[in-house]
Amino acid sequence: MTTAPDLAAAAEELGRFLGLGEPANAAATARALADPKFARALAGTSKLPDLVQRLLHDPRNEAFLTVHADQSDGVSQTLVLAGRAAGALASWTKDGLKRASPDVIARRLDACGSCAFRAPAPDTMAFRAVRKVMGPDVEICSICSCVIRAKAAIPGETCPTQDPEDSGLSLWGEPWKPDL
Ligand code: SF4
Repeated sequence: MTTAPDLAAAAEELGRFLGLGEPANAAATARALADPKFARALAGTSKLPDLVQRLLHDPRNEAFLTVHADQSDGVSQTLVLAGRAAGALASWTKDGLKRASPDVIARRLDACGSCAFRAPAPDTMAFRAVRKVMGPDVEICSICSCVIRAKAAIPGETCPTQDPEDSGLSLWGEPWKPDL
């Protein structure tokens, strides 16, 4: 689960990418991480400041933040799309918010499709917001809590599980990165 400091780092990265001169707001950052279409819309309008501002302040962005008052560490604000948000956004923005190639996406989705860690997204307020954007059958990786369809499309993303038959690879068949 991504905590507020990670969201702040992601917001800073997004603000830099968009040339805002300041971090993007938290709700828009959360939505950009959960919703690749929204992120690409932002990227596509980055030279049109008025449109960027409209997207950044779209009232629907708020649904992508949720409050977990019962968290014992006192961090109450969490990102809807849990995972290594700041790192993922940093690498994605460096790639110009491009999608991974269709072959890569298909290979990753194929691996996730037969993985024991694939799970339906829980029925929480946060994922209800994600369902509104991505449809009813949202599935997550239960190791990193990322939405599988979004995660697989981001070039720099990685599978968090080592292949038991090849310690150099993840279950996606990509180089294993143990520090993630
Ligand atoms: S990202 Fe990796 S661990 Fe997660 S569901 Fe996909 S294959 Fe399994």
